[in-house]
Amino acid sequence: MSLAVTCRGLVYIYRLEGYDVVALSGVDLDISPGESVALLGPSGSGKSTLLSLLAGLLPPSAGRLTVGRHDLVRATPAELQALRATDVGVVLQGASRNLLPYLTAEQNIRFAQRGVRGRDLPDPREVLAMVGLSARGRNRQRPQRLSPGERQRLALAVGLAARPGLLLADEPTSQLDTRARDEVLTALDAVRRAGTTVVVVTHDPDVGLRMGRTVTIRDGRVGAEGRRGEDYAVVGRDGTVHLPQEVLRMLPPGTLVGVEPQPDGTVLLVPSPASVEDVQ
Ligand code: ADP
Ligand code: MG
Repeated sequence: MSLAVTCRGLVYIYRLEGYDVVALSGVDLDISPGESVALLGPSGSGKSTLLSLLAGLLPPSAGRLTVGRHDLVRATPAELQALRATDVGVVLQGASRNLLPYLTAEQNIRFAQRGVRGRDLPDPREVLAMVGLSARGRNRQRPQRLSPGERQRLALAVGLAARPGLLLADEPTSQLDTRARDEVLTALDAVRRAGTTVVVVTHDPDVGLRMGRTVTIRDGRVGAEGRRGEDYAVVGRDGTVHLPQEVLRMLPPGTLVGVEPQPDGTVLLVPSPASVEDVQ
């Protein structure tokens, strides 16, 4: 069963000694069951933090977050643990962090399935087949005997071991050559066709295109969205819009802009020759 995700004004603050870091400052995001989404955005914008919240690994500081029928703001630690064990598969950045080096591929899947109750578990070989790791005895290899791309696909398979309704993967194609990357993307296509909602964090715009929907995180909130290659800015709940880079070059910070609604439903942004500095 695929799971929906809803974020409303989602905030996360890392509390450090002496100061706080606001990593997410009001994320509004809806993901439909079975959708596949790429989270893009510059380093430090909050992508991994958002993934950790969706996974129930970090508790929201404020706002609302639901995954399927689970309310992750109210969930107890036991509920969060159950969520991670069954409903949400998490693949951390760096394939090896998800794998036990002394177990074979198939044993890694079985290990991830241990202790899962209340659902039919897939045959490990079926999970390996979904990510293209069933041929040539790959199921009997230990992780270090696999190629980097195969290792990453095994990490995905481990995330899928309990047949979750939502798969979260942080940078699953980074540090792979083009061919290995395409094999990972093919595996993710198969995961989505099987009905699982997929969210991946990526730096790679090509990965974004392949996922169908991109959500760009800027400064801890959703700055832009892309659908099938078309880019859109997103109006935030406070009415702000992140301008795309090419527009920002025409309207640098401090520019005064007239915002003029047109009869045809479009809106014109008209820069004034004056700037904020002139007015102050
Ligand atoms: P991204 O994955 O987009 O690179 P992150 O979610 O890792 O971004 O980080 C968002 C912000 O939170 C950054 O300012 C980062 O420095 C900060 N941050 C991330 N992890 C921690 C942590 N464990 N402790 C303190 N600050 C953190
Ligand atoms: Mg990150």
